[in-house]
Amino acid sequence: MKSHALVFLGAPGAGKGTQAHKVAEAFGIPHISTGEILRQAVASGSALGQAAKEKMEAGELVPDEVMCRIVADRIGQADCAKGFILDGFPRTVAQARFLDGLLDQGGQPLQVLNLQVKPELLMKRLRGRRTCPVCGTTYNLELNPPARNSVCDRDGARLIARADDNEEAIRHRLAAYERDTSPLIDYYKRRGVLHSVDGNRDPEAIAQELVRFLRDA
Ligand code: ADP
Repeated sequence: MKSHALVFLGAPGAGKGTQAHKVAEAFGIPHISTGEILRQAVASGSALGQAAKEKMEAGELVPDEVMCRIVADRIGQADCAKGFILDGFPRTVAQARFLDGLLDQGGQPLQVLNLQVKPELLMKRLRGRRTCPVCGTTYNLELNPPARNSVCDRDGARLIARADDNEEAIRHRLAAYERDTSPLIDYYKRRGVLHSVDGNRDPEAIAQELVRFLRDA
């Protein structure tokens, strides 16, 4: 794979984080999750975290200017020179245009991977999601439960639910995706850089397909 900028597109619950993590490992490039950057900012109580907390917990988008600044800083760092994966950015057409400008400057080609998942499965995945605060392993109480109720199989830590994985915030996140982010599918399709994959399958099978596709890309 050439030095690529990879963008993962997909609704909340489509598995962007899981797949981005696996692909980043396979190619030895950084995985940049804007949701994770914001959650760390919220946990640390920084000015960014304080500004983003309310929007995130309600399942609404954080303003474009804030997100664009974060991403410009991050992909300008040395470890991104050989390629990187963006997970959760861009989420609006304005963010996509901003990213185009950044990539034109750096001369990096763009590939967009779109994870397609049935709506009823998205809700199920998000509602039951639990994460280990120690090792980061993700479970789902219905689809992929831990062996013992609510504790991590690896280290026994008590699993936690994300603050925005409640019914109402999930509805808002899915609506924000439909309204603001799904237009990016056409935006990238027209430019011939979109590759869609069936995200309803087992995570390992999806990762294998993505890695195979990118090796030839
Ligand atoms: P998911 O895709 O599961 O909804 P993420 O972890 O990517 O979750 O993001 C969590 C929240 O962080 C979003 O609902 C939103 O409030 C905020 N966020 C993350 N990335 C962006 C972005 N690029 N633009 C605006 N808000 C964002």
